[in-house]
Amino acid sequence: MPLNPLTPHALPLLWIALLGACVGSFLNVVAWRLPRQESVVRPRSHCPHCGTGLRWFDNLPLLSWLLLRARCRHCGAAIPVRYPAVELLVAGLFVAAALASPTALASVGDEARPLLTALAGWVLVALLVPLLLIDLDHLWLPEPLCRWGVVLGLAITAGAAALQGDGPARSLLFWHLLAASAGLLGFEATSALAQRLLGKPALGLGDAKLAALLGAWLGLTGLGLATLLAVFSGALVGLIGLASGRLQRGQPVPFGPFLACGGLAVWCAGNGPWLQQLGGLLGWNAL
Ligand SMILES: [Zn+2]
Repeated sequence: MPLNPLTPHALPLLWIALLGACVGSFLNVVAWRLPRQESVVRPRSHCPHCGTGLRWFDNLPLLSWLLLRARCRHCGAAIPVRYPAVELLVAGLFVAAALASPTALASVGDEARPLLTALAGWVLVALLVPLLLIDLDHLWLPEPLCRWGVVLGLAITAGAAALQGDGPARSLLFWHLLAASAGLLGFEATSALAQRLLGKPALGLGDAKLAALLGAWLGLTGLGLATLLAVFSGALVGLIGLASGRLQRGQPVPFGPFLACGGLAVWCAGNGPWLQQLGGLLGWNAL
């Protein structure tokens, strides 16, 4: 549903962006605490430098960072620009998810589809953004997050299948279950093969679990498209990194962030536009 930003429809989008910024603020906490095995709910947010607890007015998404001029009120330590950047990113992704047309939900009836699309997309964003950040920081994709991602993806697929009535509905869950397994096994096999050929691991086992998550959400075609996007964008960023000297030869680069971005791109646009692009690239007009 294309929306004109000047219509009253834009107001809900503003609220959605605000909700996204708040969730982004929480996802910053998750990405910081999960690898350190700290609870994500207690204690409340504190400055990692001086340990002073943050009052609510120092913890407002985007706004506090601007008002505090990127410094802790108590000790003056710099607050990395990454915090407001993630809040802004999630705000944008929440709006994109609300306007998305995911193929997995395409056959859900018109009444239920907008709400289901928005809610499912927000859950997917809340899963993928911390995975992306933690993989960037620690070259690690936490298994519990991937496992929950698979379960939630299959649950939403089951919900979509139930809402679309009879016919091919029942097979939807089967195909997504198959895609999750194919993602896990395909990536593990690739990793084992690379280990044998190159003598060193090319993909982490975490990547296989993330591929399983994407399979559960996107189905087989979507998983394939997301993987292609990840490989292309990963290669591009790798080449730019090497050419600009920011990346050393042989330096490990996390693949998870590329998979997560590919997955979100396929979820939001649906399979169709990407298949068309791919068809154009390969010179297939039949697609
Ligand atoms: Zn401080």
